[in-house]
Amino acid sequence: MIQIIQGDITQMQVDAIVNAANTTLLGGGGVDGAIHRAAGPELLAACRQLHGCATGEAKITAGFRLPAKFVIHTPGPIWRDGTQSEAQLLQRSYANSLALAAAHDCQTVAFPSISTGVYRYPLAQAAKIALTTIRDFLATNTVVKTVTLVCFDPTTLAAYQQAYRAIV
Ligand code: ADP
Repeated sequence: MIQIIQGDITQMQVDAIVNAANTTLLGGGGVDGAIHRAAGPELLAACRQLHGCATGEAKITAGFRLPAKFVIHTPGPIWRDGTQSEAQLLQRSYANSLALAAAHDCQTVAFPSISTGVYRYPLAQAAKIALTTIRDFLATNTVVKTVTLVCFDPTTLAAYQQAYRAIV
């Protein structure tokens, strides 16, 4: 099942939340900063052991002081002009995060809107990639049951709701 809500991903009581990280995994602004603040300094210490992560790949840590058991860190692509494999990389961020969640027996997973903040990926295009990738994953996997898209603001929520209506 796919759910689309407006909220703060750091509050989500799910098995895993996904962090729109950068490739250093050493923290940043936006949702990354919010997750590190809520999880506590243990999260940064755990991320230091991971030695970064390539764009489109995903790595997992504990959730520490978060309600979520795990944090899955994935650097989405920085939007340039659409010719730099941005779409494929964004799809890989979602698909690799979901595969890692399944490998850790996560039944419930929450995503933020990866790459549509500081990384400037066009919102409507990003929403379509997110939802089609999640839909296709849920059609074949047997571990992950519920994926929640946690939209931080009304504009993001509207874009994901519209993209959802277009793909079902
Ligand atoms: P990126 O660098 O991948 O673009 P950002 O963190 O800049 O990542 O933005 C990604 C999305 O996360 C944006 O829609 C932003 O508004 C949203 N966001 C910021 N804080 C939170 C939060 N606490 N919970 C959920 N989404 C958030």
